[in-house]
Amino acid sequence: MTAMNLPLLEALRAAVGPAQVLSEGDLSAWELDWRRRWRGRALAVVRPASTAEVAAVVRACAAHGASIVPQGGNTGLVGGGVPDASGTQVLLSLQRMNRIRDVDEANLTLTAEAGCLLQTVQQAAAERGLLFPLSLAAEGSCTLGGNLASNAGGTQVLRWGNARELCLGLEVVTAAGEVWEGLSGLRKDNTGYDLRDLFIGSEGTLGIITAATVKLAPQPAATTTALAACATLADGVALLKLARARLGAGLTGFEVMNRFALDLVARHFPALPRPLPAAPWTVLLEQSDTEGEAPARERFEALLGAALEAGTVADAVVAGSLAQSSALWQLRESVPLAQAEEGLNIKHDISLPVSSIPDFVQHTDAALRSLIPGVRLVNFGHLGDGNLHYNVQAPEGGDPERFLVEMEHPVNTLVFDAVMARGGSFSAEHGIGELKRDELAARKSPVALALMRSIKAALDPQGRLNPGRVLKMD
Ligand code: FAD
Ligand code: ZN
Repeated sequence: MTAMNLPLLEALRAAVGPAQVLSEGDLSAWELDWRRRWRGRALAVVRPASTAEVAAVVRACAAHGASIVPQGGNTGLVGGGVPDASGTQVLLSLQRMNRIRDVDEANLTLTAEAGCLLQTVQQAAAERGLLFPLSLAAEGSCTLGGNLASNAGGTQVLRWGNARELCLGLEVVTAAGEVWEGLSGLRKDNTGYDLRDLFIGSEGTLGIITAATVKLAPQPAATTTALAACATLADGVALLKLARARLGAGLTGFEVMNRFALDLVARHFPALPRPLPAAPWTVLLEQSDTEGEAPARERFEALLGAALEAGTVADAVVAGSLAQSSALWQLRESVPLAQAEEGLNIKHDISLPVSSIPDFVQHTDAALRSLIPGVRLVNFGHLGDGNLHYNVQAPEGGDPERFLVEMEHPVNTLVFDAVMARGGSFSAEHGIGELKRDELAARKSPVALALMRSIKAALDPQGRLNPGRVLKMD
């Protein structure tokens, strides 16, 4: 810390109290990202407890020329929520802003502060017999504010949409330290430009989300899952078509895992049951039913019976209980964790029209195998949304860090070219952050980039909010 920083530190202490300004000791919980890929150094970690305190922190930073990196649960996967290495940025943690402010059962809405854990929001809804349908493997540690700032997807998008579709209103502290009170619970409100949708997905670069009003739904009477083994990804897509036709809006999840993804789970979490023999592709289906468990299970059995008969599915199992359902989900949710255990890898969070996915995977798998003999491909994700986590791991026994340094660029070029050629996106749900900023600059049209830069310049003219993330301004 230099003497120059002292007036800012004093101002921050005045804003939130001295105990909530951390500038010494081990700050790695905030400075190191979940993937352990980006380690920054903060001038200070500041932990406000109210919207007024957030606004005071932003004003203090503006007065002293400091930039701010907002952070929720620090589970983001693109390096956008940790400070850079300069030691000059203020890390603004929303973790202490964790109150549920209101649940309006008749309006089917819930208002919570940005630092509420996603799981806490889900539970607050469930206690009233209601459902907050955003669901992802990091829900025990990610926050509502982080979900909205990154427009998170997850496993229920097929039925309920991304975080954006679930949000009705926001409260935001602007770059000038003012509070925009946009906490509306209205489903219809066409009064000018949509400010809410500008902040959603802006990854901390346009404003600090301090609270949100989100949509709830009635809890389904039963949720059941099934697992199906497919010989090809084209069979998986055919099963999706059949499941949509037979289950309609009752189909709430359709996830896929390749054989190697499940092999990694078996290696790192050997205690988890694997109910079907290894197959090239395993699909996890989830159905939510308004009637009850027995009719839902019957519908699954009829669907999978037809798929077996058509040869779309080689083998299938329907969960017989809630415990079995959670075990199947645990299998799916363990894939990213098993991968993290295996070591750093080149991650891609891509989306494509579902119809193009089998061709993309066949083509890209083959191209990568010829570029890197022995390469291991961890391919899993939200097939129902056309969103794959298409991750590339070093050959067995290889050094993951060296692999990342040497191969990330050629691998990304190969994968993203194949994605773009099929009308896809190089970031489906994880966002841009630090990881894909150069990709955004290279692959978005000049018109789109110019519009984005003018939005950034209008909302954050001094460039103090998460600078250098998402967009390069110079
Ligand atoms: P952080 O990591 O703290 O921040 C993420 C970004 O948002 C950063 O740019 C940060 O600056 C900004 N930010 C955070 N809070 C605020 C705020 N209040 N105001 C303004 N900006 C803010 N993502 C998916 O979309 N789908 C998945 O299925 C999914 N699965 C995951 C599974 C695992 C095991 C892990 C570790 C991550 C997964 N993710 C997934 C990524 C991540 O969990 C989500 O993006 C999550 O929404 C991030 O929330 P967070 O609170 O941890 O945000
Ligand atoms: Zn995902």
